[in-house]
Amino acid sequence: MMSQGVILPGATLGVMGGGQLGRMFVHAAQSMGYATAVLDADPTSPAGLVSHTHIQTAYLDADGLARMSAVAAAVTTEFENVPAEALDTLAATRPVAPSGAAVSVCQDRAREKAHFTGCGVPCAPHAVIDSPEQLAAVPDSLLPGILKTARMGYDGKGQVRVKTRDELNAAWADLKQVTCVLEKMLPLAFEVSVIVARGRDGTVVNFPVQRNLHRDGILAVTTAPAPGVAPELAAQAVANARQIAASLNYVGVLCIEFFVLADGTLVANEMAPRPHNSGHHTIDACDVSQFEMQVRCMTGLPLVEPVLHSPCLMLNLLGDLWFPAGSTTQVEPDWAGVLTLSGTHLHLYGKTDARKGRKMGHLTVTGATPEAARDVALKAAALLGIEAF
Ligand code: ATP
Ligand code: MG
Repeated sequence: MMSQGVILPGATLGVMGGGQLGRMFVHAAQSMGYATAVLDADPTSPAGLVSHTHIQTAYLDADGLARMSAVAAAVTTEFENVPAEALDTLAATRPVAPSGAAVSVCQDRAREKAHFTGCGVPCAPHAVIDSPEQLAAVPDSLLPGILKTARMGYDGKGQVRVKTRDELNAAWADLKQVTCVLEKMLPLAFEVSVIVARGRDGTVVNFPVQRNLHRDGILAVTTAPAPGVAPELAAQAVANARQIAASLNYVGVLCIEFFVLADGTLVANEMAPRPHNSGHHTIDACDVSQFEMQVRCMTGLPLVEPVLHSPCLMLNLLGDLWFPAGSTTQVEPDWAGVLTLSGTHLHLYGKTDARKGRKMGHLTVTGATPEAARDVALKAAALLGIEAF
């Protein structure tokens, strides 16, 4: 049931999921004068810690959902694996953006790729594998490839690189024969992403294209504006992203990740129905952040084209940094040292337990020029023990 009125500050906005994306959504909503409600079972979830209301139940818990719909004037999600059913249940009484239907496309790599193809947006050659017959029928042309679970993957989890048919067979067995997508390994020159926001009235705005460096399947560095991206390529990525959002009848913030191949071709990789790690720089480097945009979309406030006012880089702060060479106990990184560098903006997510590969925070570096921002980002990286880029 979609209320058409604008939901104004003073109301309570709900978010399903209590991770760092929810925390930054809560910060944006609260700074605009909204109260917030987070639904996440974890009593120490990053968003739950800073929200007015924290409903500590599982996503599908009937009582938790009833409490959310009683307290929140509208609901969004920060985690793409929130069951679409939970969003559908809430949508019976409250506006929910994005919808369960749109989120469910993003939850399944096979459906996601079919959607890209349906929009005329190229994606990696691939095959869906959900039976031994389909496994046997995979064409040789998809090897070497990456076998990815169709559902629940993130940060490179649920992915196995396979060179031969034997490796493919073994990998599918290791993944417990769940439905997978085998993608051809493509020769990547680099990766970019585009974040779009689409309102209830169909207005679409986009953030400028950013370039992303992944290490071990996890985003390490984002640079905006994207260096080495010709205006035509950027325009194509933006047009693709807008088309993908419009044809999903999407309401909310949507990120599309792309590969740029060695020959310059643009290929869609995947999409996320929420703000994205590659958009964290928008907090400090744009006049409207991706999280404020999420608030505007779900409340029916106007969407305006965001402006990147400062060239910037975003460095992910993974748990690894808390364990400098040789250390077996957790050591707090040198934040004071980093903050002596001008243009640094530190964001930590309130997670106390640092683990390898865990996203603990990020550092955005803004500068007067791309070169100046990069220079400071490299200095910060050296101080923190992040490999140069
Ligand atoms: P996240 O959701 O955190 O972005 P994920 O686990 O869903 O990550 P993908 O985006 O599918 O993973 O892949 C992670 C990274 O692995 C990509 O950003 C890219 O660097 C590399 N990769 C994935 N698929 C391919 C491919 N077909 N060819 C070459 N490299 C790939
Ligand atoms: Mg990805």
